[in-house]
Amino acid sequence: MEKLRIAIQKSGRLSEKSLELLKEAGISLNNGSRKLRSVAQSFPLEVIYLRDDDIPQYVEDGVAHIGIVGENEFAEKECAVDLVERLGYSRCRLSIAIPKSEDYGGLEDMNGRRIATSYPVILTKYLGEHGVKADVHVLSGSVELAPSIGVSDAIFDIVSSGSTLISNGLKEVETIMRSEAVVIANRNMEEGVKSILANLLFRIRSVKAASNNKYILLNAPNEKLDQIIQTIPGMKSPTVMPLAEEGWSSVHSVLSEKEFWGVIDRLRELGAQGILVIPIEKMIV
Ligand code: ATP
Ligand code: MG
Repeated sequence: MEKLRIAIQKSGRLSEKSLELLKEAGISLNNGSRKLRSVAQSFPLEVIYLRDDDIPQYVEDGVAHIGIVGENEFAEKECAVDLVERLGYSRCRLSIAIPKSEDYGGLEDMNGRRIATSYPVILTKYLGEHGVKADVHVLSGSVELAPSIGVSDAIFDIVSSGSTLISNGLKEVETIMRSEAVVIANRNMEEGVKSILANLLFRIRSVKAASNNKYILLNAPNEKLDQIIQTIPGMKSPTVMPLAEEGWSSVHSVLSEKEFWGVIDRLRELGAQGILVIPIEKMIV
């Protein structure tokens, strides 16, 4: 039977979350990332484990049908693959940083400077678009050390908390791109494989929707019911049931994580009581 082949990072910042996502999508693999490949038990899927740098090319070549990589790798490799889903984890940004003692007056300060990076394509493109001519120096790792050992004047690298920059005496001066884990896909898949992918993406979206939403239950005074319902519209509309106590109703709905605290404050102002918020396991969207 046909199988969808997915490439996942063998070990690193994307591995654990990606395997976790497959698990939440109901796909169990017989072991972790120790092997080079594993076959799912309950879904027509095969996983191959690779270095993240190699994944875009393997997907372009069709060795894997799809892959999970950071958007930064997708942008850097410029492979002929499609970005089919954003996954929301392994968020980071790619920024230019300079020694903290130096002043920064804008991107044009980079003219004639040497910038060390593992992402020459993204950086060169950005500098070109802004008419800045710098000397882009490619390093495959430990880029943050380059200025202190005299290899470069600045760096362009991944930043998440910024603590690596600080501990190397650097400061972030320009953010060039934001990145998160994404699913990339081969452009010439057979119909059978495409439909397995559609099913997998449906499951992934249900997992994502569930983690972005909460189930909320509360008791509402009937005279404020209309306003409370407008505050928590839910998937279609909230469930409203009368309480045994006259003049009160129980309201059940779904609330997105993003607007969570604002909505809770508003509900309390409207006199809602006994507010319960419960995680959702899966949400079929
Ligand atoms: P490999 O050995 O597979 O080549 P790597 O060292 O190139 O691994 P990792 O450091 O594991 O890569 O990072 C993988 C991806 O995770 C990066 O391309 C980026 O998208 C994202 N990432 C990197 N650093 C962070 C971070 N500090 N926080 C969140 N996401 C990050
Ligand atoms: Mg890598």
